[in-house]
Amino acid sequence: MNILIMGPAGAGKGTMSDLILKEYDIPHISTGDMLRENVRKGTDLGKEAQSYMEAGKLVPDSVINGMVEKRLQEPDCQKGYLLDGFPRTLVQAQTFAEIADKIGKPVEAVIALEVDFEILKERITGRRICPKCGAIFHMKNHPPKVEGICDECGAELSQRKDDTVEQLKVRMDEYEKSTKPVIDFYEGKGVVTHIDAANKPAEVFEKIKEALGKID
Ligand code: AMP
Repeated sequence: MNILIMGPAGAGKGTMSDLILKEYDIPHISTGDMLRENVRKGTDLGKEAQSYMEAGKLVPDSVINGMVEKRLQEPDCQKGYLLDGFPRTLVQAQTFAEIADKIGKPVEAVIALEVDFEILKERITGRRICPKCGAIFHMKNHPPKVEGICDECGAELSQRKDDTVEQLKVRMDEYEKSTKPVIDFYEGKGVVTHIDAANKPAEVFEKIKEALGKID
């Protein structure tokens, strides 16, 4: 099953992706996570991406497209993929259509999560992540058992540098400007389902399952 999950920062892409991959046994490929890992490891790609990311700006298409193409050739993508945070521009979508056709894995479903800015603001500023295992918490909605410590692996939790109100506004503007045309591109292919993601995770996931059930 070849799926894209889309939505602005804080829409719940990470949380929903965890639920989808447990249910459907496909790898969750987040370009944001891949980039952060490159930054952490200090690779050339990470060095190139870092300043864009900290400013909430999009990393150039040329960097992203190559990174995704390589990742999709790995054996765990045999049954398909769940792409999160990509494609984020029309150029990425057009390039990806060629890549996906070439490797015989065209996009079958696009899940577009939708949430109001005020809810996103609350979710983003309260979000804490585990830098070691990637677990996600929220200070109010999903706090760890011990304050500031990851339940899964015991590492100290941190806040992403771009999880501030100022960066959220920039990221929302980027999303509106660059990603809406991507959704339109897939609307043209008839594979998009819009889902109200302001509700509880279990309810949102039910809607996603309904949408994915439509794939042959
Ligand atoms: P995310 O974790 O998806 O919110 O991504 C964090 C940051 O990584 C974004 O604000 C961008 O700077 C960069 N990024 C992630 N995916 C892409 C992409 N497909 N195209 C360009 N930049 C990206």
